[in-house]
Amino acid sequence: MAMTEPLVITDKNQMRQWSRSMRAQGKTIGLVPTMGYLHEGHLSLVREAHQRTHVIVVSIYVNPGQFAPTEDLSTYPSDFSGDIKKLNSVPGGVHVVFHPHNLYDYGAGKEERIEKEKEKKGDGDVSCLDNSGLGHETWIKVHNLEKGMCGKSRPIFFRGVATVVAKLFNIVEPDIAFFGKKDYQQWRIIQRMVRDLDFGIEVVGSEIVRDADGLALSSRNVYLSPELRTQALSINQSLYQAKRLAENGEANSIKLRDSVVHSIEEAGGKIDYVEVVDQENLEAVEETIVRPVVFCIAAWFGKVRLIDNMEMISV
Ligand code: AMP
Repeated sequence: MAMTEPLVITDKNQMRQWSRSMRAQGKTIGLVPTMGYLHEGHLSLVREAHQRTHVIVVSIYVNPGQFAPTEDLSTYPSDFSGDIKKLNSVPGGVHVVFHPHNLYDYGAGKEERIEKEKEKKGDGDVSCLDNSGLGHETWIKVHNLEKGMCGKSRPIFFRGVATVVAKLFNIVEPDIAFFGKKDYQQWRIIQRMVRDLDFGIEVVGSEIVRDADGLALSSRNVYLSPELRTQALSINQSLYQAKRLAENGEANSIKLRDSVVHSIEEAGGKIDYVEVVDQENLEAVEETIVRPVVFCIAAWFGKVRLIDNMEMISV
């Protein structure tokens, strides 16, 4: 289908109707869920969707359900008109941008939630950690996969992600959904949720897109000063170094991990975690690497928390 401007849909019933009319015409639907402030990483998912499906929906929704009160919901960057321009720059564009105001109709939306956070922050009350303000009682928890790594430092994060993705799946009813391996744990959690709950949806994981200097693209990179950005390159450089060491025969995951930790700390980063985990079940591999693993990192540079990872096949 030749494309110009995408249709912007904000209402979930209208979104579902659009998808059903497409399906009635025999078209397959691709969904690319995002939180906006798009970059080449997101656009690579759109390009991949063009290879696989007839029509493409990009959702742009900053999901309050995945942010703890102490996190950056209120400062998460946005540029809706810029996002539309970027989507138009992809050959074929996209058919629909689904941009709901609030997916938690019975509770607080993003603005109300931010207000609530401000009130709570003062007295250290963390009772809104359970997201009760959103008016939801139903949350999806992918128990084991969400335990480690980002799930440790962000206890409600994956519950919020899995739930909003399930909502998007139920609203958009896609055939294929496209996720980036940049958020490796998230991708595995969504795959598992789809398998366990019998969503009839294929989940595709796309390769990480990096800037010319190797830093993985992220909407949060905009908050890095030039100095912090230089420091942050230690993430990707240490990952590539570990990969080279592994390719040259170093199979001890602890040694490889330590080399990554050392490089990031030396550059000025504060480690949240560095883990060598099984690519499928994300369990830590604290021994000789004999099966496909992925090195996963989360580290702080100033107030910016970045994540990155690299898959390594057994050595
Ligand atoms: P976000 O808007 O950050 O929630 O990301 C939306 C989707 O884009 C997720 O599936 C991410 O994994 C994916 N994504 C974000 N950054 C990149 C990147 N640098 N390369 C590939 N995919 C990415």
